Amino acid sequence: MKWEIKTEDIHTSFRDEVEELSGESFGACYQCGKCSAGCPIAFAMDHGPTKIMRFCQLGMEDEVINSDTPWLCASCQACTTRCPREIDIAEVMDALRIIAKRRGIKPRTDPDIALFAEIFLSNLRWFGRIYELGLVGEFNLLSGRFFKDFGKAPAMFLKRKLALLPSNPFKWGKVREIFKKCEKMKEGEGRE
Ligand code: SF4
Ligand code: SF4
Repeated sequence: MKWEIKTEDIHTSFRDEVEELSGESFGACYQCGKCSAGCPIAFAMDHGPTKIMRFCQLGMEDEVINSDTPWLCASCQACTTRCPREIDIAEVMDALRIIAKRRGIKPRTDPDIALFAEIFLSNLRWFGRIYELGLVGEFNLLSGRFFKDFGKAPAMFLKRKLALLPSNPFKWGKVREIFKKCEKMKEGEGRE
């Protein structure tokens, strides 16, 4: 697809915002494409990581902030480890999610992706590791999809892939401490 870049599409303040939040510099990216080539989710993204990096370099806020790519990113860090310029692309994706959240922008493909991400983190915070039954239950309740994946539960129970109770409660506090430390660090950096 050929892009026509207009002056009004370029927002240097957006580029600066992402750079400050992520701590990464886009100027180093020379568009080699290794990040997109190694991304396991690129097939489902509207713009691959390489294109997102180019848009960020140019400050093309609308293209980036309305893209589903940051929401689909699984934070696997394959792109980060492959980048010859040592840019932490996964961190950039994190920053883009934070900015989208600040602006109240939800993923186009499925607005509940943002809800799932929030519930996932709060589940991890409370139980020390993911308690799947609680995660699915809360997500189904809050998204209004009450019976989503309900039929898969019996087989998962039988294969011991779904526990009735959360794991070791003695480890819960440690993970909460990690969350608290991260929040303090983010406060210091002015992040949400
Ligand atoms: S791997 Fe690094 S240098 Fe190459 S396109 Fe991606 S961000 Fe840019
Ligand atoms: S961290 Fe995100 S963008 Fe990077 S390779 Fe993994 S899924 Fe793709």
